[in-house]
Amino acid sequence: MFIAANWKAYVEDAKKGKALTALGKRLAGAYKKHEIVLAPSAVHLGLLAHGNKSKVRFAAQDVSLTTGEVSAQMLADLKVTYAIVGHSERRAMGETDEQVAEKARHALAHGIVPILCVGERERDANAGYLSLIRAQLSAVFEPLSPKERLEVVVAYEPVWAIGKTAADALPAHDIEEMVLYIRKVLGEYLPGKAPSRVKILYGGSVEPLNARDLASGTGIDGFLIGHASVEPATFSALVKAVS
Ligand code: PEP
Repeated sequence: MFIAANWKAYVEDAKKGKALTALGKRLAGAYKKHEIVLAPSAVHLGLLAHGNKSKVRFAAQDVSLTTGEVSAQMLADLKVTYAIVGHSERRAMGETDEQVAEKARHALAHGIVPILCVGERERDANAGYLSLIRAQLSAVFEPLSPKERLEVVVAYEPVWAIGKTAADALPAHDIEEMVLYIRKVLGEYLPGKAPSRVKILYGGSVEPLNARDLASGTGIDGFLIGHASVEPATFSALVKAVS
């Protein structure tokens, strides 16, 4: 499985970041079938990703060409593999689909794989949220080349399920439905069976208690994990639960 730990702004001191990185490396060594990806804050990324020779991969929490932010060239120089784009907390600050698409293109142009977050803020009875997900996906996939489209990792994160507890996560059968829907939309941009090659993650209150259930039979390739990724015992338990 693809297990991405999004530390968001939870990890505030480098000492904790170093300890979590050491844990990530141990887990990546012990559970070789998983790809363990750590996404520290920009300020800690330089420190933790520098000279990384382990199986752990690093992700930036955002990528941008704007002054004061972190560009894809800087990430490539550090040998960072991924950049999260379109996280709901950035969209909530006004980031548009066009800006997210621009970030994804910028990342890919410099060999950084975008982890594209999509997700609705709420679910309406008429399933209007599906059109929103389609628009978020289309904005990014349409301008890309066929080769680039296959590289993008999609993280489906219903915003209303983020930062809560296992009981609030999207139920497994709904995740399965969303994975099918996302692959159907991707079928508009990729030929034949190619959509099945795009990695799709689920994020939103994944914890050790529900991880196994959410991973089995839902068609997801992994998780994007927030609060459960910054407590060592919890993160270890979660990785163990899906192994
Ligand atoms: C997130 O913010 O991307 C996330 C998945 O958070 P949590 O796991 O805390 O719901």
